[in-house]
Amino acid sequence: MKIARVALDVPVATTFDYLAADAGVDDVGRLAIVPLGKRMVVGVILEFATRSTVPFDRLKDVLRVVRDVPALGARDLRLLKFAAGYYHHGLGSVVLGSLPARLRRIRALEPATAHWALTAAGEVAAAATAPARAPVRLRLLALFKERRSLDISVIKTVAPSAPSVLKDLVARGWVAPGKRVQPSGPATKQHAAEDAPPLTREQTDASHAICARLDRFVPFLLLGVTGSGKTEVYLHAMDAVLRAGRQALLLVPEIALTPQLEAVVRTRFPLACITTLHSGLSEAERLEHWLAARAGRARIVLGTRLAVFAPLPELGIIIVDEEHDASLKQMEGLRYSARDLAVVRARQCGIPILLGSATPALESYRNAIAGRYHLLTLSRRINAAPPLIACINTRGDRTTDGLSPRLLDAMAARLTCNEQSMVFINRRGFAPVLMCHGCGWLSGCRRCSAQLVLHLRDRSLRCHHCGHQAPVPVVCPGCGSHDLAPLGHGTQRIEAALMQHFPHARILRIDRDSTRRKLAWPEMRRRIHEREVDILVGTQILAKGHDFPHLNLVGVVNADSLLYSTDFRASERLFALLTQVAGRAGRGETQGEVLIQTDFPDHPLYTALRSQDYAVFARHLLDERRQAGLPPFMHQALLRAEASRLETALAFLARAARIGKSLGHRVTIYDPVPAAMVRLAGRERAQLLVQAESRSRLQEFLAAWHDKLVAERLSRARWSLDVDPLAF
Ligand code: ADP
Ligand code: ZN
Ligand code: ZN
Repeated sequence: MKIARVALDVPVATTFDYLAADAGVDDVGRLAIVPLGKRMVVGVILEFATRSTVPFDRLKDVLRVVRDVPALGARDLRLLKFAAGYYHHGLGSVVLGSLPARLRRIRALEPATAHWALTAAGEVAAAATAPARAPVRLRLLALFKERRSLDISVIKTVAPSAPSVLKDLVARGWVAPGKRVQPSGPATKQHAAEDAPPLTREQTDASHAICARLDRFVPFLLLGVTGSGKTEVYLHAMDAVLRAGRQALLLVPEIALTPQLEAVVRTRFPLACITTLHSGLSEAERLEHWLAARAGRARIVLGTRLAVFAPLPELGIIIVDEEHDASLKQMEGLRYSARDLAVVRARQCGIPILLGSATPALESYRNAIAGRYHLLTLSRRINAAPPLIACINTRGDRTTDGLSPRLLDAMAARLTCNEQSMVFINRRGFAPVLMCHGCGWLSGCRRCSAQLVLHLRDRSLRCHHCGHQAPVPVVCPGCGSHDLAPLGHGTQRIEAALMQHFPHARILRIDRDSTRRKLAWPEMRRRIHEREVDILVGTQILAKGHDFPHLNLVGVVNADSLLYSTDFRASERLFALLTQVAGRAGRGETQGEVLIQTDFPDHPLYTALRSQDYAVFARHLLDERRQAGLPPFMHQALLRAEASRLETALAFLARAARIGKSLGHRVTIYDPVPAAMVRLAGRERAQLLVQAESRSRLQEFLAAWHDKLVAERLSRARWSLDVDPLAF
């Protein structure tokens, strides 16, 4: 009796048993269609067994093993199992969640209609010159010629009319249902283009260190100041890996950064097949790219955090750019850290991993100091001096509309020299809140413990957390007074103030509102590069990774709001953010200047920033963390609960804490507390912190605790576990 253990997308940790008479060991990792209750669902076969705890007469059959989609490899499955175990998440939802959505839907897996291929007659027709008035047919035939077989999902991307053109081609006998054929890519023709610049001494040392250890697990931390040429080190490492016939995986925190980096990588490796994986792709593209990675056709995969799960049979290196960035951590569902999983994956595969940043996470830096990571340093900018960083004391130097006279003067000077400036502010919209001077009423969100942000363009009040939107009231809802005024500053307000100050300057605002339209951001980048912009006003989007050669002055407004926060990681994050913002200034010939408006110019964080010494600041923070007993010297997990009422969530957590304490593990279980943002979209949230000095001790506790909590089924609260939480 052969029994298949199948992972299904249900939130339980177990697999499901099915009879699988005609399946074999080759089918491990393959998709299978199985009955579940009254439904049919897609699952993944994890292993075969000869016994089951389910009585034989109740076992159902696997309906079909999907053999025309390549299976997940043993190593891919190993990583997914690790993730499910470490984050205490259902194995089935981890495995299925790692697949492109198309592969999780039965209809998309129907074999008869899934793939189409050219017939002999079709080959002839495709070779002949087709009439130009059938452009879709022409494009479809060309694509068939190039790829030999096409998935219906790909065909649909050619044009809206492509499916009906396909019918026509089938009627003509040019195309017939066929097997998926993987075009055999030229795996060896991928040498770097000749235009690579000669490396600096430090770059050479770094890339030699990596290239000498391609055959084993070595974690590298590349600590390189902004503009020091980290990308060039990545490219050299990838080149060596490609030459060795292996695949490279490059992870970045933001989709917004992929097009640029993709362009750089494509230029360097013009002959290699490069593919991207991120949430901005259509379902069809996601599937295509995933299949290319799985088949080994894609030699370089560039993606955001979800790409850490990409199946890569010949993986030779993983590179994580901006490894400190919080976007590498998924904040819902399976709350995984792509950086941490990347390290695990590299260890499992016995390959090097390269973590790059100007301001590494303290976790990574401590690993480097302790000798667990191999530290590589790029201490100098390429062809440019480090920017001059200074503080403007806003206690003495009063601001108007949020801008100090000194910053405005500096901007005016840059304008006369035809140089670009940027004002960085951490808040979009016009003002963070609308206030009544009559009674002190503040515009708050009814569904969240947050203020509604004033947006002037469409005269609305908007919640940036739940999306709630309301028109700006004419009179105060509290007292009826007309004396309503915006409080604080956002990008729109700074933009408006700058327009008044510099009526002839070309000002461009860049935030999530202005870049929402697809292609808006590439167009904005073009304008900045071609000097069609004098002043940029923007949020975080501007801070990361961009190379603006004509930008020489950066003004930072409102950073103090991030200085005093209850989150113990606040200063680490602010230092990283401001380092990145400062890193935008002066990447060309002129020395850059950074002016930070603050009420606390003597704060240690600003002192460290002015001297631009990451190492000194990091050691200072590490000392504080050690004394306070905080990560990375402690390992934490957060049990999060939410319910319609806070008491319900707190009561659940109190019960969970008692259960946890009764287990007798050596971990510290704190008291349940309301979340920093209690209300979100009408739900109230609370959390319970658990910590231990060793990761393994914490893990043992979590496993036992999680099982108990699941077994108890006690709650009207929804709960989830967040291992190594980044947000509190
Ligand atoms: P980082 O990612 O460390 O901030 P980049 O990789 O963006 O820095 O490099 C900064 C700039 O220096 C880029 O324009 C890059 O093309 C250039 N560059 C990098 N290495 C070299 C080199 N060895 N010679 C000349 N230019 C280089
Ligand atoms: Zn009022
Ligand atoms: Zn809200």
